[in-house]
Amino acid sequence: MKTPHFAIIGAGTAGLATAILLARQNIRVTIFEKVSKLEPVGAGLLLQPSGLAVFEHLGILDHALKLGAYVTGLEGQLADGRLLINSHYKQAHQHYFGLGIHRSTLCHVLQTGLEQYSDLVSWRFNHSIENIQEQLQEVRISGLYGDLKFETRFDAAIIANGARSTLRPKPWVKIDKAYPWGAVWNIVPECLSLNPQILHQFYDRSQIMMGIMPTGAIPDEPTQRLSSVFWSLPANDLKTFLTHENTKKGLVKRCRKTLETSRGLVRKRSRAQ
Ligand SMILES: Cc1cc2nc3c(=O)[nH]c(=O)nc-3n(C[C@H](O)[C@H](O)[C@H](O)COP(=O)(O)OP(=O)(O)OC[C@H]3O[C@@H](n4cnc5c(N)ncnc54)[C@H](O)[C@@H]3O)c2cc1C
Repeated sequence: MKTPHFAIIGAGTAGLATAILLARQNIRVTIFEKVSKLEPVGAGLLLQPSGLAVFEHLGILDHALKLGAYVTGLEGQLADGRLLINSHYKQAHQHYFGLGIHRSTLCHVLQTGLEQYSDLVSWRFNHSIENIQEQLQEVRISGLYGDLKFETRFDAAIIANGARSTLRPKPWVKIDKAYPWGAVWNIVPECLSLNPQILHQFYDRSQIMMGIMPTGAIPDEPTQRLSSVFWSLPANDLKTFLTHENTKKGLVKRCRKTLETSRGLVRKRSRAQ
């Protein structure tokens, strides 16, 4: 029997993880990715215990743990320092935790895991897939390689080109609307004045939702631990966020006050213990 050959469309987390799972079963895969190379883009994600269980299954958990950051819980503070959210993984199970990890590190860990199957895996960068047609015995996929059109055939195709994919058949898509909220983020050195194993969020009424998430290191600089600072905003405000000097000053002042209050409370709490 001939070895099955699958196309995977998209080399994000879903595409790379699926490639490992298929290659492990001796299935040949060709990965189509529209960008010309995998670059370190994005900020941090929080992998939950279920995601970490998948990493264990893929044999890449130890590598991820080395680079990522243990997150034991979420503490969300109001401007006066009171905790609105005080949620810790150990409340669900003593061995549970989350892993803060950079998107680029996540992709690096998956890509490294895939290297051991290099004889079964082919890469097609700069290939944007535009159409998929299911036939009785095969799947035809077509798209653009630069300006050139191409068409090729596989035994099956995995559509893993992200949340905005237009390749999925319409009936599969339950919600066809962009989420109306987004985030502005920045990557900073690990924030040590707050507990570095906690995902911290700060709220000022419904006007500010800011967070600091430990995300560990990126592969090129494994000793520099990092955090992602993010601001949650309605999607319409993302472009104009902090473009006005006065708004910027006002926001920084309010945030500083919130952080100082919370640091004062942390000190008080540790003196009381
Ligand atoms: C550049 C980028 C940065 C991100 N940063 C963050 C972040 O900082 N924090 C966070 O929580 N989430 C982030 N996300 C989202 C998060 O990575 C994904 O939601 C999650 O990992 C799901 O992964 P996925 O593999 O389904 O999709 P994605 O990670 O979106 O990957 C989809 C891949 O498919 C490729 N692709 C798209 N269309 C085509 C096509 N037609 N043909 C071929 N290839 C195609 C894309 O280039 C991409 O590499 C980011 C996503 C991207 C693409």
